[in-house]
Amino acid sequence: MAKKKSRNRKRKLKGLKALLALALIICAAIALKAIPGAWEFLSKYLPFIEEPRQITVPDGDMAVHFLDVGQGDCSLIVLPSGKTVLIDASTNDEGDNIIEYLSYQKVKHIDYFVLTHPHADHIGSAKQIIEALSIGKVVMPDIETNTATFTNLLLAIDKKDIPIHVAKVGDIIKLDNANMKILGPVNKTDDLNNMSIVLRLDYGKTSFMFTGDAEEPSEKDMLEKFSSSEFRADVLKVGHHGASTSSSLEFITVISPKYAVISCGKDNTYGHPHTETIKTLNKLGIKYYRTDKVGNVVFSSDGEKVTLLRPTA
Ligand SMILES: [Zn+2]
Repeated sequence: MAKKKSRNRKRKLKGLKALLALALIICAAIALKAIPGAWEFLSKYLPFIEEPRQITVPDGDMAVHFLDVGQGDCSLIVLPSGKTVLIDASTNDEGDNIIEYLSYQKVKHIDYFVLTHPHADHIGSAKQIIEALSIGKVVMPDIETNTATFTNLLLAIDKKDIPIHVAKVGDIIKLDNANMKILGPVNKTDDLNNMSIVLRLDYGKTSFMFTGDAEEPSEKDMLEKFSSSEFRADVLKVGHHGASTSSSLEFITVISPKYAVISCGKDNTYGHPHTETIKTLNKLGIKYYRTDKVGNVVFSSDGEKVTLLRPTA
């Protein structure tokens, strides 16, 4: 009887120790969230603990997020002041995911909501986002379409009385100490992909290029209009989910990014990204990340250099 009691006590003590260890790990994880960079370092050695979903960057840094939103696009820019830009809103089934991601990043207001072109994989969840958040301005290209998604989006914009800025090539949108320059579309066309707003975001000496679904004809127009220095960027959001009809060798060469991000859905029916695009990126030695393989891709910039925050391993 005494032996049984002592065995029970030992078992209880073991359980208590395990609970204490778990509590310590959780406390350490919470504390680490407050120290920028510390989590990234230690999470390599603690793969069993899920990474925190809120991304913290050092004071004075800008964060650029490329969200994993299936076969669509959605990028978030958060400036050190807290000002925000959201570029595109993926398909209509990604609204909850995008809104949840924004809430993890403590984003309640979008200063500029850029909708690169009115295809359903870019404006699909825009109505839901407009209804859920406060929006400063919507930026759109000079083209309309007659789909229900687009019509409902315009109604939602109108209902909340949000001003629309129609993007013109050469425009510079100033946001604190960052600039967004509209490089495309240069020429008007009925092809919605080639009406995609292409913009370069400059923060200090660092730049990010967002290309929507612009294809080779739009790339050619931009290359003819602007000098090559206008294209140089550290990070490129690869055009049209990595389709071979975009990302001409000449265009990628002038951008010459260190990193590229391909936003595409797992096992998508288009076969994105196409092997031709991957070959171009490999040929130029560009490190690329696919959202279907690695999830969200996040960078920070201190104005001097760009740092990859996600994926961590
Ligand atoms: Zn698209």
